[in-house]
Amino acid sequence: MPSLVFATSNAHKTQEVRAMMPGFDISDLRDHPGLILPEETGETFEANAIIKAAGGSAHLPGLLVLADDSGLEVDALGGAPGVRSARYSGENATDASNREKLKLEIAKLPGSPALTARFRCCMALVRDGRTLHVAHGTVEGCLITQEQGAGGFGYDPLFVPEGFEDTFGVLPAETKNQLSHRARALAQMSAWMRENL
Ligand code: IMP
Repeated sequence: MPSLVFATSNAHKTQEVRAMMPGFDISDLRDHPGLILPEETGETFEANAIIKAAGGSAHLPGLLVLADDSGLEVDALGGAPGVRSARYSGENATDASNREKLKLEIAKLPGSPALTARFRCCMALVRDGRTLHVAHGTVEGCLITQEQGAGGFGYDPLFVPEGFEDTFGVLPAETKNQLSHRARALAQMSAWMRENL
């Protein structure tokens, strides 16, 4: 079975990627304690995905290293939290504190703005420091202001994907894994890997 290292410590992301790539033996940074990734200093999801994958690759010679950088863009907030999604409420942010911050920022908006939003994901695949491929995925939807469901992670309880009435926090993991930003980026990445590796 081909193996790859997913350069994340986010157990939720790994769980999703393992479910979507059943033919791969996938480890993550929890299996490589001591491997510290460089700071995510990029201004785009793509730049940060490459920083993470290349940073992991520097310590893992010969191995395929995949990284995901992702986040939520809210139109009425000018695209925030965007690349700052993980740290929206500050340095010691948690998923819950980020959702609270998002609800506060939405409450400050004048009138009743449309809460259209999207999740974006960029995946980068690196081996021996060389970027082999970069894939993107997006899922459009809208926000609600009262959390629904405890599934998923991050902003999932506030995000209703287009064509559905429930949040990613309520929808089954299988549904999220068919249509999410991560699923779409990974489908593209997997197709590239099948053809090129
Ligand atoms: P990253 O680890 O720097 O890529 O940050 C990703 C952040 O974006 C997470 O901490 C979440 O806040 C948010 N995010 C990314 N993907 C998802 C998702 O699938 N559901 C909910 N929140 C997500």
